[in-house]
Amino acid sequence: MNMKHFTTFVKDQVLVIQFDMEDKTVNLLNQQSLTSLKSLMTSAYTDDKIQGIVIQSAKDSFCMGADVNFIQKLVATHPNSETLYQKIWEMQSFLLSFEKPTVAIINGRCLGGGLELALACHYRVGIERTKLQLALPEVRLGIIPGLGGTQRLPRLIGLENALQMLLKGAPVSEDKALSQGLLNSITTEKSALKQAIDYIHSHNPRDHKDKMLNMYQPDHLMTMSAASALAKKQTQGCYVNVENLLQAVYEGHLVSLESGLKTETEYFVKTLLHPSTQAMLKTLYIDRQALRKKAKDALENHPITQIGIIGGGFMGGAIAAHAQVQGLKVVVIETDQERMLKAKEYIDSLVSKYSQTNRTKPLPKVTITKEYQKLKGCELVIEAVFEDLALKRQVLRQAEQYMDDQAVLASNTSTIPITLLAEELVSPKRFVGIHFFSPVAKMALIEVIAGKLTNKRALDFGKALSAVLNKTPIIVKDIRGFYTSNVCMGYIYEAITLLTEGVSPTVIENAAKQIGMPAPPLALVDEIGIDVAWHILQEAKKDPEASQPSQAVLDLVDQMYQQKRLGRKTQKGFYLYEPKKQLWPELMTMYPHIEHDFESVKKRLFDAQVNTAKTIQEKGYISKEEANVGAILGLGFCPQTGGPIVNKG
Ligand code: NAD
Repeated sequence: MNMKHFTTFVKDQVLVIQFDMEDKTVNLLNQQSLTSLKSLMTSAYTDDKIQGIVIQSAKDSFCMGADVNFIQKLVATHPNSETLYQKIWEMQSFLLSFEKPTVAIINGRCLGGGLELALACHYRVGIERTKLQLALPEVRLGIIPGLGGTQRLPRLIGLENALQMLLKGAPVSEDKALSQGLLNSITTEKSALKQAIDYIHSHNPRDHKDKMLNMYQPDHLMTMSAASALAKKQTQGCYVNVENLLQAVYEGHLVSLESGLKTETEYFVKTLLHPSTQAMLKTLYIDRQALRKKAKDALENHPITQIGIIGGGFMGGAIAAHAQVQGLKVVVIETDQERMLKAKEYIDSLVSKYSQTNRTKPLPKVTITKEYQKLKGCELVIEAVFEDLALKRQVLRQAEQYMDDQAVLASNTSTIPITLLAEELVSPKRFVGIHFFSPVAKMALIEVIAGKLTNKRALDFGKALSAVLNKTPIIVKDIRGFYTSNVCMGYIYEAITLLTEGVSPTVIENAAKQIGMPAPPLALVDEIGIDVAWHILQEAKKDPEASQPSQAVLDLVDQMYQQKRLGRKTQKGFYLYEPKKQLWPELMTMYPHIEHDFESVKKRLFDAQVNTAKTIQEKGYISKEEANVGAILGLGFCPQTGGPIVNKG
């Protein structure tokens, strides 16, 4: 089907090209949209009546970047590096030099390939009050910019600023974009076109000189080596894209822009064809998008406007704040005036941290109350009280009495089986597990747990909530610890086992970092709390189906629990926190030391997670795709691998 991607009109001898993909809610760069843009621009070059070109968007955002499905297809159809290079160079060379003055008018998000298109223009005008976000986020997807970002950005805003954007992949603020010269101006929607046209009438592209950046300059060489060292420290050399990105920037700035762009294309191709990139794209983009799409579809069938939360503590309060910022009305139930006040202060502080100060619409209301009657009108009610079976059952029963008949009831429990919680409910079918991760606003995952009796509608509400809260849901069957906690505990138990076998704790922590884990296991269990681990172990002991660690692990956790070494919360655990964080020295002498093989320690920490994930997936409790997405988004499991379950599909 021939989709329309652009509409055009002419004003004051300027061709205005409006990006507006007919079949999509956002604008993306792919083979078809780039070809149409090229054909519109080349006909403008030969039309004497046209003095210049404006590219703008008719949607809420300028462009979200390259269509990853298109990149994936490109790789599948051109698996050989030479033909892939040719194909990508064809696109690069179209952006190489625009023959007539060209201005990008940017609104909303301008990401990845979208920003690279804007960078190829001679001038960039931002439209104020459109939540402008300019970023090159490719590094986060495991790739590198491939339409000139590594070459034009440093030449435009300087090496240090550009490396910050390229390596972090995060958007820059409007003010920064303006002061660094990424945007030439920010103005109202009304005057943007006039400004663009004025620029075009007063400029000739031949007078436009790309700024040069002399990489041989000592301060540039120093910036480059500092960035490489920092990147190495942060990524432990696990990410081929980060290394290729730094090489493309370095080598590309020893030569002209055109040669630099060729260098970028070479590194882009090298990155794309690397197995790690393919695995990351599959999990973090293709599979994740598919899960998000299912969540969006569920939301269309089950709109959510108001939720209830029972318990406004650490998690309940954070869920309330995040939901409010995302546009939901929220009712929070607490026990008494004092706790209501505490919950209010906590929610307000999180809201002011997370909501944009220049928001256009007022935030919806949060009601904090003791009265369960106020749950009327909530489409979904989430229980988030203390992790105690009897208490949870009691508040769930109470909620059931006041909720609307059609409303869905959920629990944010992290360990108690959903089926067990549902036992005393009048309508267990509408009860589902919705497991959030902390910090709620930041973590991208929600685990939706299906109890034995949970119906599809309740599961769909879990997915729909994920869509409203801008998160990715995975669906897991109701096993003790669900999915992510099991994988996480597998990792922690293996670390403690290694420790009890006499491996140095420093070696264990370093080995974990080197396989790409963001949090080393002993530091992680200190954050979670040794008491939490102890309780999980006590519950697991009662369950013949739960995996049991060795007696040595049970003994060490028990000893630390009895000694109140509970981790960060008591300022002592596997680490000491005062005067500064360091491994507890006694751990070094607690077990007879053995010589270790560093590679085998790395392998054991990796395999412990992979084996747990595989066992759960092979028993049919979770799909391969969800297991991979869940491990990476929920635990930070070695993202460069694409997840614990080999999944090339
Ligand atoms: P918390 O102790 O901070 O908060 C619990 C809140 O529930 C308190 O504010 C308390 O006043 C309130 N509460 C107790 N009884 C109540 C009742 N009868 N009616 C209304 N409110 C009542 O605990 P938390 O860390 O927020 O954990 C809550 C739940 O979330 C637990 O099930 C926990 O397992 C789960 N969870 C916690 C985390 C985490 O990182 N802490 C992560 C995921 C899930």
